[in-house]
Amino acid sequence: MPKKIALVSACLLGLPARYDGSEKKCDTLLALRDEYILVPVCPEQIGGLATPRNPAEIVGAKVFDRQKNDLTSNFQQGAEAVLTLAKIIEPDIIILKERSPSCGVKKIYDGSFTGKTIDSSGITTRLLKKYYKVISEEDLG
Ligand code: SF4
Repeated sequence: MPKKIALVSACLLGLPARYDGSEKKCDTLLALRDEYILVPVCPEQIGGLATPRNPAEIVGAKVFDRQKNDLTSNFQQGAEAVLTLAKIIEPDIIILKERSPSCGVKKIYDGSFTGKTIDSSGITTRLLKKYYKVISEEDLG
């Protein structure tokens, strides 16, 4: 039986894509590899941001890093590129990293850079949710 396809946040597969050059390998997600082809993507990298990069948070309708640089266009470009990829591979499931300003599904940081979270989604997740069901690694149980 052919494997299904999962589009996933690159950092959850152990790839060093995060703002500080680290990863967030999720063993529960990796355990799905017998059933799914796991396709990694990092919207911030394909939106043109370097790794490592300054941490960023959503503030209102925009995205800023801690130095107050406006990164909104990078985040939007990344989101649109991920949507393009999704439309090509037609994933059976999308699993993204909770709390990220791009990938967060139910929670993101509140824009104050103080570690507080609010109920909301990242920029990429907001766009993908218009077309697909999106869950986070924390929904895997
Ligand atoms: S943008 Fe998404 S895939 Fe990239 S490092 Fe952040 S959470 Fe991981």
